[in-house]
Amino acid sequence: MPALAYIGLGANLGAARETVHAALRDLAAEPHIEIEKVARLYSSAPIDSSGPNYVNTVASIRTSLNPQQLLACLQKIEQWHGRERPYINAPRTLDLDLLLYDDMTLESPTLTIPHPRMHLRAFVLQPLHDIAGNIRLAQGYVETLLELCQDQSLLPMA
Ligand code: ADP
Ligand code: MG
Repeated sequence: MPALAYIGLGANLGAARETVHAALRDLAAEPHIEIEKVARLYSSAPIDSSGPNYVNTVASIRTSLNPQQLLACLQKIEQWHGRERPYINAPRTLDLDLLLYDDMTLESPTLTIPHPRMHLRAFVLQPLHDIAGNIRLAQGYVETLLELCQDQSLLPMA
């Protein structure tokens, strides 16, 4: 059985909404990835960053890629969309984060699973809740974690 993974998508430069849709199509076109569910799109103000609002969503996928292969694939798609990394938390055309990969925990120099900051971010937790329900992370249930970051502006997009 392929692994069940959750991918966080975010964009805040250029045509952000179109970029997120294009990245979802790119993911779906990968031979070893099948998209299962996609949450609605949200708009969020940048945290620890600058520039226009972000467009965010979360997708669940089935994949036979291992976590490192999946990360490489996500980074390849980021590159296709002109991702540059001039400095930490710089605005970006596209950010693809590997949030969860089955029940795996992993800490390597290039990859940490679950994603180390996902439990603090409404723009991850809300779309995750949309498609996965009130699942339990190491830090607590998604609904509880969401209440803790209610100050973060997050708006469903039309
Ligand atoms: P961020 O998404 O945290 O704002 P970047 O997208 O620039 O920052 O990622 C920086 C590095 O984080 C990547 O080069 C990647 O190796 C590493 N990384 C560690 N864990 C993960 C993960 N779960 N998903 C995506 N990238 C990760
Ligand atoms: Mg990232």
